[in-house]
Amino acid sequence: MLVNYSDKVNELRARVEKFMDDHIYQHTRRYAELEATGQINDPDAIAFVQELRMRAKEEGLWNLFFPHLRDDEPGHGLSNLEFAPIFEIMGKVFWAPEVFNCNAPNTGNMELLHFAANEEQRQKWLRPLLEGECTSCFAMTEPDVASSDATNIQTSIVRNGDEYVINGRKWFISRAMHPDCRFAILLGKTDPNNPNRHLQQTMLVVPMDSPGLQIIRDTTVLNGHHSGGHPELLLRNVRVPVANRLGEEGHGFAVMQSRMGPGRIHYGMRAIGMAEVAMQLMTSRSKERVAFGKHLHQHGMTAQAIARSRIEIDQARLLCLNTAKTLDEVGVKAARKEIAMIKIVGSELVKNVSERAIRVHGAMGLSNQTPLAEMLTWSWVMGIGDGPNEVHLEAIAKMEVRDNDSAASVKHYLTPGS
Ligand SMILES: Cc1cc2nc3c(=O)[nH]c(=O)nc-3n(C[C@H](O)[C@H](O)[C@H](O)COP(=O)(O)OP(=O)(O)OC[C@H]3O[C@@H](n4cnc5c(N)ncnc54)[C@H](O)[C@@H]3O)c2cc1C
Repeated sequence: MLVNYSDKVNELRARVEKFMDDHIYQHTRRYAELEATGQINDPDAIAFVQELRMRAKEEGLWNLFFPHLRDDEPGHGLSNLEFAPIFEIMGKVFWAPEVFNCNAPNTGNMELLHFAANEEQRQKWLRPLLEGECTSCFAMTEPDVASSDATNIQTSIVRNGDEYVINGRKWFISRAMHPDCRFAILLGKTDPNNPNRHLQQTMLVVPMDSPGLQIIRDTTVLNGHHSGGHPELLLRNVRVPVANRLGEEGHGFAVMQSRMGPGRIHYGMRAIGMAEVAMQLMTSRSKERVAFGKHLHQHGMTAQAIARSRIEIDQARLLCLNTAKTLDEVGVKAARKEIAMIKIVGSELVKNVSERAIRVHGAMGLSNQTPLAEMLTWSWVMGIGDGPNEVHLEAIAKMEVRDNDSAASVKHYLTPGS
């Protein structure tokens, strides 16, 4: 690879790999069964995940995603560039990031709280997440409006003395059903008539046990694959103190952006790990099976599938590292083109490589005997969650056109007509 990881990163990579070997892989079947049987939010059934989390914390493999740690907060304060090759390893098992306290939506929420919370809020909401004492959810998407355009959000927030009163509906709110989910970070509108559509929103922390907050149904995704609770929430006259507001009133849209950058690059990092697993499965199966007198990898089509997958994985890794470096150096706003690119590339990478690996496995590839079908599902989720790929493609095109609008710069390449 072009990049040589530092000794510190290589040491952490080796420790995470060993932890995965010693403690994670042996539970993959168990976890898949809990998902399939709807027990993924049963505190007894998932107690082993909590035990693994405490073990990872004790071993110092904790909060590796978070660059903004204070001295008294647990973790290593790695940069995004340092974290990328480590998250690739965690990404090999769908639920492993949670064991290392590196899972969405907590990661995005922690980033958001770091940027927007005052000192009291940091202690009250961010610290318990960093310590692993609770989990949280992020509530933006709504059933009644196209939520890929966050200015459409309708949930109403009305100030009443020292409180805000919230009314609305949210859905696909991941982790809201987890037994340890303590609070939601919610986007709603305090000023729906403001002519500036980006100044209508406010961001609040809403405790999950607030009177009037109800989980009205769970939503499974792609026929039960990738379950784990993405429920619909109803908020009827939910009251929270004004002290639960993150950032200024009317500035919720800008506050939200602080969580989107790291969240999206994380998709890319773990996508590479997933694709490496699919690649390993594909090559090993193609060496085992013989059809029409040749091993599968000796058939041109399979050879192409393997070669294309390697090309795409290595391309994605370089783009991911470049995005991480850009994010570290210039921040979320200036790195938004790279972030949009890796989000798209990550979802397409997993889709392409897992689909090819499924074909090489024949019927088995479609079954639950490999993680491939779940990976394919994941690729669809990655293509829609945190903003559909279409929206990111449009944003990239806009930036590209904006940055290349000088007619003078192309004249050297043109042959003048007669
Ligand atoms: C498994 C899963 C977990 C999720 N977790 C959360 C969560 O924890 N919290 C949360 O708030 N949300 C969550 N979401 C919701 C997700 O963020 C939204 O689904 C996403 O932002 C799209 O919003 P929408 O579903 O309202 O689709 P819409 O906005 O209605 O868009 C529908 C489609 O329209 C097309 N489209 C939209 N804009 C454009 C454009 N500019 N150009 C071309 N085509 C376009 C795209 O094909 C898009 O898929 C989750 C979703 C899934 C699937």
